[in-house]
Amino acid sequence: MEFISTRGGERVTGAQAIVQGIAKDGGLFVPASFPAVTRAELEGMLGMDYPERAAFVLHKYLDEYDEAELTEALRAAYAQFEGDDPAPLVRVENGMYMLELFHGPTCAFKDMALTVLPYLLKKGCELTGVKEQILILTATSGDTGKAALEGFKDAPGIKIAVFYPEDGVSKMQKLQMCTQDGENVDVVGVRGNFDDCQTAVKRMFRSEECNRAIAEKGYRLSSANSINFGRLAPQIAYYFSAYLDLVSSEQIKPGDEVDFAVPTGNFGNILAGYYAKRMGLPVGKLVCASNKNNVLTDFMASGVYDCKRPFFKTMSPSMDILISSNLERLIFEVSGRNAQLTAERMQSLRKTGRYDMRPEEMMAIRETFFAGCTSEDDTVECMYEFFSEYGYPMDTHTGVAMHVAQKYEKYREDNHEKDVRPMVVVSTASPYKFPQDVLYALTGNDVKDSFKGIKRINLLTAMKVPESLKALRYKPMRFKGVLSPDKLFDEVLKFLG
Ligand SMILES: *Cc1c(COP(=O)(O)O)cnc(C)c1O
Repeated sequence: MEFISTRGGERVTGAQAIVQGIAKDGGLFVPASFPAVTRAELEGMLGMDYPERAAFVLHKYLDEYDEAELTEALRAAYAQFEGDDPAPLVRVENGMYMLELFHGPTCAFKDMALTVLPYLLKKGCELTGVKEQILILTATSGDTGKAALEGFKDAPGIKIAVFYPEDGVSKMQKLQMCTQDGENVDVVGVRGNFDDCQTAVKRMFRSEECNRAIAEKGYRLSSANSINFGRLAPQIAYYFSAYLDLVSSEQIKPGDEVDFAVPTGNFGNILAGYYAKRMGLPVGKLVCASNKNNVLTDFMASGVYDCKRPFFKTMSPSMDILISSNLERLIFEVSGRNAQLTAERMQSLRKTGRYDMRPEEMMAIRETFFAGCTSEDDTVECMYEFFSEYGYPMDTHTGVAMHVAQKYEKYREDNHEKDVRPMVVVSTASPYKFPQDVLYALTGNDVKDSFKGIKRINLLTAMKVPESLKALRYKPMRFKGVLSPDKLFDEVLKFLG
């Protein structure tokens, strides 16, 4: 399958799209068309295990990759997860399910793709004849950084540098990243928020000067952020798998529609759900849940994307984002794949901080998406209520999704929408990854120390503590550097040596 840039012109293979990360014109790579999964194929996937299902979905896009080899690579990636299903679907009450995507090495859903991306990239270099070493530059709001570091540590021919907002990630996330081992990694704190990190990294990608200097050192740039299609593809698979699990357990009949609620930041996770729907999966609504940084909620309501607004630090730091990169892929689709218009809008976003949509485009978006946001208090209340009622503890990001899912159910009731559709809430992080805020939500108690928080939550919930988080306590801090955004390129050159 071929891939095209959302801003026009470039046409590449899937392997090229993954190796390059981003199009030369700054656009994002999207498939030339959406491959269909037929009803018969969907039923055929019922008997497959998770790696086989994922390989089937990925191969629809990446047909130059060998499917058997892909299956083995996925199997190896998901063997690093705790438990035997990397994406278990848990029924919590009638019609409400949690899709748990946090059983990987870093306890957040980013592992679903970032354990696989190293293989996709390495194989992609082979398929496209790329001989240089790869330099991965990653901006992170907390979880991508650690997952990428774990995925790529000590990978031959690859170096990875991660940039996180100095005060914009949780203590646990910072600890995870700054204690990272591996000889090919660099971790740098940035003065600013996630958007500053992401903008600085995107600037390096676009800059000819940066690319030239990096090439002189024998490297070429790639990205582990969700702008890379190699991040998106493995995420499409779990929407299929959740659906198939509902069919297998006879909660639904094949063809019934299912809603998904997704805690959203950079719009990568929920966009994967949209891709699944476009491939033919019977998805009803995709509920786009935001925290206090509700630029997407306002966008869906008004048709104006306006990121000129205050930035809030919240308990769900991985969603503290005002510029949702992957939205570009959605607006490209609803514009009728108008690359010129998409390029103009992205330019307007860069220059003025906003762009406008047409009414008919917004109608198309609202047909598939319902958007809502939560205050910090609402999230805490929702996490508390859900734990008291069902004994199910969730992390702060998932709490946002749950609250907006409940708002959506209420909206449907108020509008007398009678057809019953199961709701799958996508659970993106382990509660143990944000122990202080989770403990506060569940009990009203504050603890100063993250590990004390972990212990208390464990006593309260009896949920198993992930080994990787337990181990953190005794690891030395390796990375302490903090830089301003304009100094990142100097750091990169130093890192390459
Ligand atoms: C990254 C992240 C999100 C947001 O996902 P996007 O793909 O950026 O929308 C939500 N929750 C957690 C725990 C995350 O790590």
